[in-house]
Amino acid sequence: MTNRISLLPDHVANQIAAGEVIQRPASVVKELLENAVDAGSDTIQLIVKDAGKTLVQVIDNGTGMNSTDIRLAFERHATSKINIAEDLFTLKTKGFRGEALASIAAIAHVETHTRVENEDVSHCLKIEGSQVIEQTLSTQPKGTSIAVKSLFYNIPARRNFLKSDTVELRHVIDEFHRVALAHPGIKFLFFNNGSELFDLPSSNLRKRLVAIFGNKLDSLLVPIEETTSLARLNGFVVKPSHAKKTRGQQFFFVNNRFIRSPFLNHAVSAAFEGLLRPGFNPGYFLFLELDPKTIDINIHPTKTEVKFEDEQSLYAILRSTIKHSLGIFQVIPTLDFEQNQTMEVPYAFKNKVPTSPPIEVDSSFNPFKDSASNRKPKMEQWEGLYSGIQSLPTEEVSSTHSLVEVPQATRVFQLFFKYIVCPLRTSMLLIDQSRAHQRILYERFLSAITTKKGISQQLLFPLTIELNPQQEEQFKSSYEILEALGFEIKHIEKSIEVMGAPEHCPPSKIESVIETLLLENDKESENQHFSYADQVAKSMAQSLAIRPGETLKLEEQHRLLDDFFGCKETTVSPFNKQIFITLEKGEIEQKLS
Ligand code: ADP
Ligand code: MG
Repeated sequence: MTNRISLLPDHVANQIAAGEVIQRPASVVKELLENAVDAGSDTIQLIVKDAGKTLVQVIDNGTGMNSTDIRLAFERHATSKINIAEDLFTLKTKGFRGEALASIAAIAHVETHTRVENEDVSHCLKIEGSQVIEQTLSTQPKGTSIAVKSLFYNIPARRNFLKSDTVELRHVIDEFHRVALAHPGIKFLFFNNGSELFDLPSSNLRKRLVAIFGNKLDSLLVPIEETTSLARLNGFVVKPSHAKKTRGQQFFFVNNRFIRSPFLNHAVSAAFEGLLRPGFNPGYFLFLELDPKTIDINIHPTKTEVKFEDEQSLYAILRSTIKHSLGIFQVIPTLDFEQNQTMEVPYAFKNKVPTSPPIEVDSSFNPFKDSASNRKPKMEQWEGLYSGIQSLPTEEVSSTHSLVEVPQATRVFQLFFKYIVCPLRTSMLLIDQSRAHQRILYERFLSAITTKKGISQQLLFPLTIELNPQQEEQFKSSYEILEALGFEIKHIEKSIEVMGAPEHCPPSKIESVIETLLLENDKESENQHFSYADQVAKSMAQSLAIRPGETLKLEEQHRLLDDFFGCKETTVSPFNKQIFITLEKGEIEQKLS
């Protein structure tokens, strides 16, 4: 009988290992940047083409490799960073597995140029799918340049699995942020398709944060600092008033390595308890230093998960330190003030020019013909229901003018600052004000986007919004849709000037709305069930709709109902929530019988 078990050839083993370490261009970026940091570089350049699908290149001015090292670097389990397993517990470097370069070389075309300081010549090595194609000498400056081309060229399934350039670039930028934040002393440059995305000079953490996320962040940072026998904690949290709906600004570094930890994240959230509106997440950039012996970073192939020996104490340190700092920096009173403000902001109907809702009249409808008391109101029957209350003769119902007038005469009122109660002929409607308004806005914005006829209102004072490089990229690809919505925007270097905004978008909301829309753009192809237009309309509706708790004046209530009754769909909100309930006369009578 022939043997059934055989050792896998190296290139196959490497391809399999690559599957674990390299999921997408961003994984290559992470490994190459980390190697450049480990090599003691003080300037690192990242160059990508087509979000890294065509090229990821990292150029550093670190130690470089000699002729033997350059060959060994691409062997599996070849590392200069540990010799014995115990070294893992005193690790100061990013890498240690000696797996990354071998994995990358198994699934791409890799070209390396490298020179150590005291040698005259540099070494150049070309590898394709683990095969050495060429090794030559040349004269390059000290340091290393590794170019990874045609990633996954020999694994079409993986290549096809990659997302759009926008999404992949987003991942690349995320990895870049993580390394750049952990090493503010190193100068970083980042080019995508020939244009510069980041130029980060050597500086400190605060300046690095501002260089990456924009000047606005500077005044929002609350410093965090604590040293205990167990750990040293430092960094910043973002003032709770500027918490975001996304988790884009949550960074934990343990011994200068970016990690994900739902547990530590929970500790931070606990410190913010009571200070955040529901659905908002705290922003933080926190660095923990611990004795490497008390942690295990070796539990995950891409090294973003960590096990801690004394989790409970860490949790307590984080929570109390952050809570304390939030207190010292007096962010709490500010927030209380802001919360009250949002509760009292009246719904801005007063600036609106009244328009007739586009009601389609069902002239054959006769409200008096209907005898059943358990009838559910349907769109085309709204007017009839109203007219019943008004006891208008049926003939008049067919006049558009009288239809518009009808709700005005109806007695409606607001209940619990949350619902509009609307008595009908044989029933009563309880309408959720927020969901109804979301529906109205959603339909309007969607139609504005699809017809490209969004109505723009000129701003008295144009508004300048600073954009960080990544928002700038997102802006370029969102420009068309913003314009369709009714935004009038000029792109000036590193910022935009907003001269006009869509109807229903008050100046105070413009900045946050645009910020959210730019983020939405990223999710585009990750969420393929919904079109971008649909997502944008939803997101705008959500940001701009009246909230529960807002007082509505009588004419505002009427306007809301008018607009709502003109909607194409009235049963559910854009987020699939029921908008109203009906209380039938019969039901009421039964309850009181
Ligand atoms: P690891 O980083 O885990 O050691 P890698 O496969 O990423 O494994 O790298 C293998 C080895 O190649 C490293 O240990 C290092 O000695 C060398 N190396 C990789 N990149 C560079 C670089 N940019 N400059 C100098 N040496 C490098
Ligand atoms: Mg490495």
